[in-house]
Amino acid sequence: MFGRAHKKSDSTKYYEVLGVPQSASQEELKKAYRKAAIKNHPDKGGDSEKFKELSQAYEVLSNPEKREIYDQYGEDGLKEGLGGGGSAGGSPFDIFDQLFNGGGFGGGFGGGGSSRTRKTRGEDVTQVLKVSLEDVYNGTTKKLSLSRNVLCKKCKGKGTKSGASSTCYGCQGSGMKVTTRQIAPGMIQQMQHVCPECRGSGESINERDRCLQCKGKKVTSEKKVLEVYVEKGMQDGQKITFEGQADEAPDTVTGNIVFILQLKEHPKFKRKQDDLYVEHNVSLTEALCGFQFVLTHLDGRQLLVKTNPGEVIRPDQYKGINDEGMPQWGRPFMKGKLVIHFNVAFPETGALTLEKCKILKTILPSVGASTSLSEMALDDCEETILHDVNMEEEMRRKEHQRHQEAYDDDEDDEPGMHRVGCNQQ
Ligand SMILES: [Zn+2]
Ligand SMILES: [Zn+2]
Repeated sequence: MFGRAHKKSDSTKYYEVLGVPQSASQEELKKAYRKAAIKNHPDKGGDSEKFKELSQAYEVLSNPEKREIYDQYGEDGLKEGLGGGGSAGGSPFDIFDQLFNGGGFGGGFGGGGSSRTRKTRGEDVTQVLKVSLEDVYNGTTKKLSLSRNVLCKKCKGKGTKSGASSTCYGCQGSGMKVTTRQIAPGMIQQMQHVCPECRGSGESINERDRCLQCKGKKVTSEKKVLEVYVEKGMQDGQKITFEGQADEAPDTVTGNIVFILQLKEHPKFKRKQDDLYVEHNVSLTEALCGFQFVLTHLDGRQLLVKTNPGEVIRPDQYKGINDEGMPQWGRPFMKGKLVIHFNVAFPETGALTLEKCKILKTILPSVGASTSLSEMALDDCEETILHDVNMEEEMRRKEHQRHQEAYDDDEDDEPGMHRVGCNQQ
């Protein structure tokens, strides 16, 4: 609540801008604005300043409450918030679109084309799409059915039989109403309250005019099947976008449906960018003497993999086959490597008897310092016993020790931290 002195101010400018007398009716105002706004619309090469002025003038004069304030106090009155929100409430395009979309003007303007329309952007729908390595190696099509909202075909999203706008007349769709009353000469009280006609929704449809198809909801549900093309070489996390396929809503630019690929683990192959990795176990004999095996690829082809004559495979060794990796996305004829990681299975302890070892020694070269020691030197050495060391266990023990020491340090530095440390453990 506030007051202001009644003073005579300029209340003619808006009428002049629109070229109408101060006594103009709502119909005359609307007509004058339409004519001038089309002429000056920036999309049609008009002057944007002039367009803004027109829209501002119309916004005020088309609202009976604002018009009253303007007539009494001029622009200043509106600026000081008497009109509840001032004169520059929305963008000039909002007002334009409101009039032409809501009024059924059917002109060349409407919603389309311009990026400065009143339309808001609908939300994107994001969905995870699980794919196998086979899917992205070979490429595939996935059919997904979904249900989404579409604008009611019967009422074209108006919600009414007659095609009339469902925007509440009482509040112009804002859901709120501002009333002003004079409580004393020169004192005006302004109150904002929920519009009683639409109970704040900004919409009201006459019961008899309600669209039967959508029951006034403006949208209906539709089942739709989307065909998602998963292309060769697509990566984990890559997006496939269906533009404008999400839920439709009135005055809203329909959002996209976005599928995010999630590559499932493969039991045999691992993908690293364009390369494929596969594990293969060979026996020590195979590692030493050579081998061949059949590897079934992701497209079902049988690859014969074999060592070169005389080649020895070491434990943990990697060998690659060119052009048998993943196809590159967008260039599927370009492929990465297929890398084979070899594990060599050694014989178990005790599997080699002294006899067998003797034979092996005649074949395999003697490598290592242990065999070059003379009997003499051995006499000077101390005997030791080798036992198994579990490295994982070792690391865990060390880590625990390190924590313990750090904890002890804390205790020395800050005795107050002791309790906290205890609780955390
Ligand atoms: Zn209302
Ligand atoms: Zn309908």
